Amino acid sequence: MPVLWPAALGGTVVICPNCGADCWRDSADVGVGIIYGPWGCPCGWSESAEYNLLDGPKLTADGYELDQWGGATPPQVLESEIR
Ligand SMILES: [Zn+2]
Repeated sequence: MPVLWPAALGGTVVICPNCGADCWRDSADVGVGIIYGPWGCPCGWSESAEYNLLDGPKLTADGYELDQWGGATPPQVLESEIR
């Protein structure tokens, strides 16, 4: 699972252009280094237009729900979280 790091711990602070809050990004240790997802804000803003949710939720063609940090949640996981 990727770990969410507050921007303050990453040494870089990104301020959301939509609401002015501190943003953060996903990081994942892939063994040979750390990879980062796009910067995102709880309000739905993402630095990546592909994941920017300010215009509403984004779904892929196969029903995955995208989040502003570059993640994609399969529809069956969403159902299991409800139960
Ligand atoms: Zn925001």
